[in-house]
Amino acid sequence: MAIIVQKFGGTSVADAQKIRRAAQRAINAVKKGFQVVIVASARGQQTDELIADALEVNPNPPKREMDQLLSTGEQQSVSLFAMALQAMGYDAISFTGGQIRMLTDSVHTKARIKSVDTTRIKKHLDEGKIVLVAGFQGIDENDDITTLGRGGSDTTAVALAAVLKAQECEIYTDVDGVYTTDPRIFKKAVKLKQISYDEMLEMASLGAGVMHSRSIEFGKKFNVKIHVRSSLEEKEGTMIIHEVPEMEGVVVSGATIQKDMAKLTLIGVDNKPGNAARIFAHLAKAKVVVNDIIQTEVSDKKANLSFTVGTNDLAPAKEAITEIKDEVGCDKILVHDDIAEISVVGVGMRTHYGVADKMFNALAKAKINIDSITTSEIRISCIVKQEQAEKALEAVCLAFELDKAAEKRTKAKK
Ligand code: ADP
Ligand code: ASP
Ligand code: MG
Repeated sequence: MAIIVQKFGGTSVADAQKIRRAAQRAINAVKKGFQVVIVASARGQQTDELIADALEVNPNPPKREMDQLLSTGEQQSVSLFAMALQAMGYDAISFTGGQIRMLTDSVHTKARIKSVDTTRIKKHLDEGKIVLVAGFQGIDENDDITTLGRGGSDTTAVALAAVLKAQECEIYTDVDGVYTTDPRIFKKAVKLKQISYDEMLEMASLGAGVMHSRSIEFGKKFNVKIHVRSSLEEKEGTMIIHEVPEMEGVVVSGATIQKDMAKLTLIGVDNKPGNAARIFAHLAKAKVVVNDIIQTEVSDKKANLSFTVGTNDLAPAKEAITEIKDEVGCDKILVHDDIAEISVVGVGMRTHYGVADKMFNALAKAKINIDSITTSEIRISCIVKQEQAEKALEAVCLAFELDKAAEKRTKAKK
């Protein structure tokens, strides 16, 4: 029997009525002949509320205890969901991440999945039950509860779809698909019918909160068809799939805005072999996730080195570079936490020219100064002042016609 994994985000299970509506989706899939596995997030804003509770009792809560606390949100959702299904006449059983041996590393609050044991899930599916798994959490080798980072329930769902060889992983959320950019910020954004894993991975890593970036890595590696769709409406959403030739025809598929960012600059680092390695090894030891890195040579003797991090990593990043500052001969550390990153993403960039030029022109016309620029094969990112970020996103979206369906945009040059 084919398996389908359905994931419901926080807003989709926020109250009893929404849980029943989500449960009806699962029942519809059962009626179509699928074995159904449900992953649910914490209800509504519960994760934010639990974080606020923690900060009230301890401004610097230990990460292990954070995971103990935050994982309870998802546990509530799945047990309530199972109860709702039972009241609707369907047999269902819920599990925490630990109960299905969702093994992760021990990096609390941003753990990575290592393996999942499907025995228990399969046994209950074969007994005709709908199986519910709490999203966002796992267990490490010491049996300590871990969580996968904000938005991590997507990763639970796609990882389960991968190991269970599910026909599809449906992500039910509060938008009806993946848009050219966040529709809450740029109202004219349009829904994409499909997007490649590579584009979605870049967009997710660059701030498109609609999907957790790790989930896309799993999807790509294990060929999981991911369908992002609305939990309120029946209509088709967006398919995240492997690249097909027609995708190359679109130069820019989407744009992103990332506001929770900070840039740290080490001024006057000794310009000699091994210093960059020393700095980044120290940051890695502090478990800081570094985004973009820019190094510029100032003279034979000195270089400036900047890197960006999410604001949640700012404190440990600052601490780590302060510790290593003297060892690498750094004169001064500058910290900017009032920055944002605007990016454009598209596999078509590999074969078309004029993309950078168009982006920089759009920003110049909107009188927005670019602090720094980074690129990959399929993206261009500019750091701008945070107060100008939304204006910058709009300018870039209009320049690349991200308010129009892909087939209606002006043909790009090859
Ligand atoms: P859930 O709780 O269901 O996981 P999220 O809040 O994590 O939902 O993700 C959905 C939100 O992602 C949307 O409400 C939207 O504001 C935001 N978003 C950001 N970028 C995009 C995009 N490119 N397309 C669609 N939604 C996006
Ligand atoms: N509840 C967690 C969060 O709010 C995980 C998730 O929703 O995916 O980040
Ligand atoms: Mg989410």
